Amino acid sequence: MIVGIIGGGQLARMLALAGQPLGLEFIFIDPGTGISAASAGQHWQGEYDDPTLLRRLVAAADVATYEFENVPPATIEYLAEHMAVFPSARALDCARDRLHEKSLFARLGIPTVAHRAVNSRADLTEAVAVLGLPAVLKTRRLGYDGKGQAVLRDMADLDAAWQRFHGTDLILEAFVDFGRELSIIAARSRSGDIRFYPLSENVHDRGVLAYSRGQPADARTEEACRYMASLLRELDYVGVLALELFEVGDRLLANEMAPRVHNSGHWTIEGSETSQFENHLRAIVGWPLGNTAPLGHTALFNCVGYLPDPVAVMKIPGAHWHDYRKPVRPGRKVAHITARAADAPGLEAAITALKALLPGHVLG
Ligand code: AMP
Repeated sequence: MIVGIIGGGQLARMLALAGQPLGLEFIFIDPGTGISAASAGQHWQGEYDDPTLLRRLVAAADVATYEFENVPPATIEYLAEHMAVFPSARALDCARDRLHEKSLFARLGIPTVAHRAVNSRADLTEAVAVLGLPAVLKTRRLGYDGKGQAVLRDMADLDAAWQRFHGTDLILEAFVDFGRELSIIAARSRSGDIRFYPLSENVHDRGVLAYSRGQPADARTEEACRYMASLLRELDYVGVLALELFEVGDRLLANEMAPRVHNSGHWTIEGSETSQFENHLRAIVGWPLGNTAPLGHTALFNCVGYLPDPVAVMKIPGAHWHDYRKPVRPGRKVAHITARAADAPGLEAAITALKALLPGHVLG
């Protein structure tokens, strides 16, 4: 079977690497050259909405998916008219727009961050009056890794933020003084079977995920699974969905969701019986989902803007090296490391050894 993927970055690469043992083959549509996924399948170079490439994909592939939510909606709509594509256009529409996803959370009774739509300078003043300061002004669409957002700390910040972002649809969110950031990842099959991964506890550095830890025994698990299940069912979702959450006191607030495999779940490659990548493929192809049980204690480190010495990483017991084959640039995710151990002290030893190796990282 052939899977078409819109996008050829590291998520597409890891999907393909997970799918090859299952006998799947891959086509990536991506405008870039030297893309991360290049060696894992066929790279069809062109825009994500190139009509000729999309026509060819319909003819060549059995099922299509995408690795990022900023894929042009028209691409998914066209594909959905002609072939199986998952997650659905509706799921994508909700997940790509911060206002739509928060409205969905509210409709399903999932607590979310207090927010207001901002379409004018007057809206911004009014939203600040309602939500107070500090607050976070975000573009509704196309933001990722902390891009397209600014923290407003006092009234003097409003004009600069407005100048920076006006002309695009915006949302103002109350600033959440969270205790922890968590995410839950789950897969839903074509027949409606749902498998949850253990929660991940996440630490961000300047808006970019730096570190994640699998949390199989987390006290918030039941609540997070409940929210995730209601989203999956409401959207009749097929594939892997990620939900990012803030823990405030002893409750959770939904921040945003991603209709795809998620960075905070990369540890599932070694840390779970079936990785998020394999389960996404099993779901969209129409196969049964695999067991998501954790295998030991796991942590994940992103290499953002630098590549450590892989040999030094591999010398650390339990450390697994994942090189995305991307040119190193400031702020760019170019590799990750998973540390896995049979017990908590073993994981702490691996983390301590990695700390000594990784410059300028955040370790939670
Ligand atoms: P996002 O793109 O919404 O996931 O934001 C990136 C990161 O910025 C989050 O993981 C948080 O660390 C932080 N952040 C986003 N929104 C808020 C908020 N409303 N209050 C506090 N921190 C936030």
